[in-house]
Amino acid sequence: MDDADPHIHVERSVTRYDARARNLLAGTFGRVGDLPETVDTGCGLRVPYAMTSSRPESVTCLACREHARAQHLRLAEQIERLGSMPGAALTADQAGQVADHHRDLARRFSDGG
Ligand SMILES: [Zn+2]
Repeated sequence: MDDADPHIHVERSVTRYDARARNLLAGTFGRVGDLPETVDTGCGLRVPYAMTSSRPESVTCLACREHARAQHLRLAEQIERLGSMPGAALTADQAGQVADHHRDLARRFSDGG
């Protein structure tokens, strides 16, 4: 356990474990993956999946918190853009709700634990 990392990280692609975003984006881009054993983190490490969390309150790695915050903000913008597209898989209202969800997560990641 010499190289044991005490921090909890976020997975680099925060959308993968977010079911709502995953379904939305998969419906659009056709990409859904199974959860892997190890994952790339927002701070550039590769750690067991168990050492990551999608809950802002659980993530102790500062670089990952910043990464996740940026990812959630970007995702919120992407989803709002999707909702405004003709023939979108979701209405503007639904898109707004999901975007709000991600903005809220971004806010919690910026609270510093
Ligand atoms: Zn990290």
